[in-house]
Amino acid sequence: MGERSRLLFEKAKKYIPGGVNSPVRACKAVDMDPPFITEARGCLLKDADGNEYIDYVCSWGPMILGHARPEVVRAIENSARNGTSYGAPTELEVEMAETIVEMVPSIDMVRMVNSGTEATMSAIRLARGYTGREEIIKFDGCYHGHADSLLVSAGSGIATLGIPGSPGVPPDLARHTLSLPFNDLDTVKEAFQEFGTRIAAVIVEPIPANMGVIIPDMGFLRGLREITAAHDTLLIFDEVISGFRVAPGGAQELYGITPDLTCLGKIIGGGLPVGAYGGRREIMIKVAPEGEVYQAGTLSGNPLAMAAGLATLRILKDGGIYSELERKAVKLFSGIKDAASKAGVDVRINRVASMGSLYFTSTEVRDFQGAKSSDAQRFKIYYRRMIQEGIYLAPSPFEAMFVSAAHDDEMIEKTINAAAAALGSL
Ligand SMILES: *Cc1c(COP(=O)(O)O)cnc(C)c1O
Repeated sequence: MGERSRLLFEKAKKYIPGGVNSPVRACKAVDMDPPFITEARGCLLKDADGNEYIDYVCSWGPMILGHARPEVVRAIENSARNGTSYGAPTELEVEMAETIVEMVPSIDMVRMVNSGTEATMSAIRLARGYTGREEIIKFDGCYHGHADSLLVSAGSGIATLGIPGSPGVPPDLARHTLSLPFNDLDTVKEAFQEFGTRIAAVIVEPIPANMGVIIPDMGFLRGLREITAAHDTLLIFDEVISGFRVAPGGAQELYGITPDLTCLGKIIGGGLPVGAYGGRREIMIKVAPEGEVYQAGTLSGNPLAMAAGLATLRILKDGGIYSELERKAVKLFSGIKDAASKAGVDVRINRVASMGSLYFTSTEVRDFQGAKSSDAQRFKIYYRRMIQEGIYLAPSPFEAMFVSAAHDDEMIEKTINAAAAALGSL
């Protein structure tokens, strides 16, 4: 990395744990120091040393329109002139809620929060409050933010419930979470046979994108819907990444499956800190003050965040964007695939709409086990070469690449050429 980024990182490490405010940013998985970003426009990032990169992290998903999109920047500026927070209701929040209800098929009512973590944590509390049950099921390799109940890894077999995924998560809490392999309906059936009447909710990323991108079997998602309905268990789609990304109404629109509750984040804030959870009216009316399940937030529904989010959603709702994104993503990922086969490097590429990932493995990747078969050493070499070539990827083999509306054909061709060079050097 450049000298200025290096100095900033040294200083950051003195005052911030690991020098970063979210762990993956520290670039440990690729043994590098992170570049410090100073500005971003369209699909380009600039760092403190003046290096420019084509950005495929897109702030880990939110920047589907690219950076500093004029309509979004104007909306934030205009809103800021009228004050930045009131702690009282505003018309913008009503517009936001109405827009979400129009766009996301399963949502009748919605509550805004400040992050994806808050959204999933609140949805779990609501599911427990609504059903009067305590156990939840999640899937290995799906990430739902860092709330205690969801920071849980798989126990050994379904006879034992979950184990804490981090020091600080009480085992007594973790054992209420069962983590099962994704795309494996039989294990889910077994779990319901054993614990069915005690399970409050099944929470799932309908298109997992935090172990790289995994393509769900339709039978798996449909099966989850049927089993949960049969046991009066709530099905929660965590669409913090897939929401507004794979279609205007997210994975539930793309696949035609209706969850009971949906968690949103990332794109919905247009680059500002926002999350939301929503769903069927009869469940959502249990949230305080209409109901008794408590959840609150000083900055929830913040006017700047609503303005940025609404400006983004309006552009997405008008359509046109998704077919363009699809075309660009096909071009990008098929280009990378061709480059890999020319270089004789075994890769697997999983893609849904404008997100995808590259695994350095020769076997099909359909769950966390498969994702972990990707060669970490190869990824590290590939990553380092890509950043030298001016391509900014997420510094971990378990993350997605995001294409935005601001990536044009020329940028995508540059990226494919860089990938050809990087893959050729493996
Ligand atoms: C990013 C993410 C979260 C957590 O959102 P934060 O805003 O980082 O708290 C939850 N679920 C999924 C699927 C995510 O990708």
